Amino acid sequence: MIITIDGPAGAGKGTISAFVAQKYKLAYFDTGMVYRAVGLQMVLDGVDLSDTERATEIAKALTFPQMMTLAKHKDFRSDVGSHAASCVSVIPSVRKALLKMQQDFALQPVFADGTPANGVVYDGRDTGTVICPNADLKFYITAPVEIRAQRRCNDLIAAGIDTDYEKVLEQMKARDARDMGRASAPLTKPDGAVEIDTSLYPTEKNLQDVAKIIDKKFGF
Ligand code: C5P
Repeated sequence: MIITIDGPAGAGKGTISAFVAQKYKLAYFDTGMVYRAVGLQMVLDGVDLSDTERATEIAKALTFPQMMTLAKHKDFRSDVGSHAASCVSVIPSVRKALLKMQQDFALQPVFADGTPANGVVYDGRDTGTVICPNADLKFYITAPVEIRAQRRCNDLIAAGIDTDYEKVLEQMKARDARDMGRASAPLTKPDGAVEIDTSLYPTEKNLQDVAKIIDKKFGF
């Protein structure tokens, strides 16, 4: 059982993916992590983010354990990490180098503790279009960019980080433009995907709607 959940930054993919993984006992692959790992490694190495050759070398050598170690770094999920991930993700050779690692996960999906799972939920930008075009069920999660920027501000404020809405909105628009405008695997709604605008209803209703669609699809 393979479910893909794609959409722009701040749309709520992570919340929905975590819910689906837990409710249906599926392994969870947050594919943004592979780009965050490559981007952060570039930052730590002091390499210019437009250095295609170096980014490709890092992507080719990336392993799961290395990614999990980088994930503990303070900048893995910070704006520094988000910007670096977004920059390296537009490089076609980087995407190509990271494709097999992401696709192979579905062959033998495992939970975080290494025990085998019966399926996987992928969360990302191209999981229903490129990584698993034959997924059993695809979702496209979205929300207006102003709402997504406000959510990001709320998260930063909750984490005690000083924030400026206009700046966050500009960053979010720039990330959208890179994700949706890149030549290789641009973010787009996959064919046949169920679209959910998470700004229309409270989170709980969105989660219940997703569960209803999955239950119907798989006859649960
Ligand atoms: O989802 P997350 O915000 O962690 O992703 C970080 C960045 O990685 C995104 O802004 C996007 O540029 C890139 N990404 C991608 N393809 C994916 C997942 C993430 O290009 N499947």
